[in-house]
Amino acid sequence: MEHNGDWKTLSNEALTKEEKLKWAKVCYPELVQLVQLLQSSTYTVVLTGAGMSTESGIPDFRSQSGWWKNIDPRKVATVDALEEHYSLFQEFYQTRVKALENIEPHIGHYILAKWEKKNLIQAIATQNVDGLHQKSGSKTVYPLHGSIRSFRCHHCDQAVKEEVFMNEDSCSICGGKLRPNVVLFGETLPSDVWDSAYQSIEQADLVIVIGTSLEVYPVNELPSLTKGKTVLVNVDEVSGFYPFDVIVKGKAKEVLEKLNELLEL
Ligand code: NAD
Repeated sequence: MEHNGDWKTLSNEALTKEEKLKWAKVCYPELVQLVQLLQSSTYTVVLTGAGMSTESGIPDFRSQSGWWKNIDPRKVATVDALEEHYSLFQEFYQTRVKALENIEPHIGHYILAKWEKKNLIQAIATQNVDGLHQKSGSKTVYPLHGSIRSFRCHHCDQAVKEEVFMNEDSCSICGGKLRPNVVLFGETLPSDVWDSAYQSIEQADLVIVIGTSLEVYPVNELPSLTKGKTVLVNVDEVSGFYPFDVIVKGKAKEVLEKLNELLEL
């Protein structure tokens, strides 16, 4: 058999399952390793970051698209920006909310939801605020950084509708500044969500980290909590302090599709 790495080999009907697996082991050893880990694990947690959603059309923070007018989002997504530079804060989040119009989960999100149904994974902890895991049908999702799909008053916590925030109104109860329900830099993560993610990663025997630079504290500490195996799926090298057991270099959607095909052989 040719070991040329052509993924179409997997759909070659002339080959047996064993021959296909043998081929995959030679051409895609990390994927086969990850499949074996998934199959032998009894409790698997997936930890996702912005790179999970880039293939749905949502830029990550490291994107070179220039949408943010050369502003480092880490400087406007702060409590200080909300309180001292509200128009900049508002503009940043209005742009991010608008960017979510017509955005849908991609096949990778749906694959994770399917794996949960099949009991292959038990939970998803995510830094993403876009709600795409929930939209694709995943049930046990821990949104560590909140949601950009709902809004409240920063001062009195009154919930408001998206259009009220987008219209640049202020709170009808106290006149306070409105904001999305995301966790801003400098704010504490919601303790119930954090505790659930923490406990599930502690008990996991496999943690798969997808599409995050692992630069944001405290989420970047989560992979080190597990006594199980850890895997990183990312397009780039992550300037890492964390020694992953397996590293799969590639795009989230493509890697998940390939893993799913191998699992279904
Ligand atoms: P980040 O931008 O710092 O890092 C994203 C990582 O994903 C990078 O290492 C990048 O190389 C990688 N990546 C990009 N596209 C990929 C793909 N298709 N497949 C695999 N990897 C890919 O994002 P972060 O680590 O999640 O942390 C930054 C903060 O940004 C978080 O607090 C998060 O809440 C927020 N954020 C969320 C969204 C969202 O909800 N979709 C979007 C942007 C930023």
